[in-house]
Amino acid sequence: MNKLKWTGLVKSFFNLFLKSNCPLCQRPAAGDFCPYCSKQLQRCQLADPGRFWDSQQRVFVWGEYGGTLKRAIAALKYDGNPQLAKPLGGLLAEAWLSFPELAIDNLTVVPIPLHKEKLEDRGFNQAELLAESFCELTGLPLQRHGLERVKNTQALFSLTAKERQAEMENALSLGKDFRRRRPRDRVLLVDDIYTSGITVKSAIQILKQSGISVYGTVALATPNKGDRRPILRSV
Ligand SMILES: [Zn+2]
Repeated sequence: MNKLKWTGLVKSFFNLFLKSNCPLCQRPAAGDFCPYCSKQLQRCQLADPGRFWDSQQRVFVWGEYGGTLKRAIAALKYDGNPQLAKPLGGLLAEAWLSFPELAIDNLTVVPIPLHKEKLEDRGFNQAELLAESFCELTGLPLQRHGLERVKNTQALFSLTAKERQAEMENALSLGKDFRRRRPRDRVLLVDDIYTSGITVKSAIQILKQSGISVYGTVALATPNKGDRRPILRSV
């Protein structure tokens, strides 16, 4: 056996016993995150995830966008860790299921879509992966292409409320899944970060035009404060 082959064998043998590193701090981790980051992540969870769920915009959010949750989302989206969608989507699903008054059956889950150019760059739609994990735990059916993003919109966070509205104009359309067949039940939208609400609002409008009603939205994180709600009021 040549040396290279032998080294390869030894390496793969040891890899069986090596734990991977935490994607957030590079410490050894048995699970998706190290124990330290898992604990820090739990601290980002909102005490009242249903605080944005009202008659205006029915949104259920797992955590506050900051600290470890913000880093976990960045690691998922930008550092090539799509596998993190599974535990993060799981957290969202667990919280959702703990509110039986909201978590009704007969919903079809639809992720907020990415434009195909962005999808090609990133290789995946994080909202879709979160939705996949969410559906695994909740048992709700997933329609990956209920919606489609036909306009490659720029990031909305730096724009004013008026500019956001203009940017999202005609950005979404009905996706191939729903063009083929309308869902029997109401739709539950899934997104990673809920900020101004303008994307969700556009999604609701597009679906409504085709006679599809939206029950609400679940999102992993929001930078909004539920008590003062300055951003929600401006849209
Ligand atoms: Zn860590």
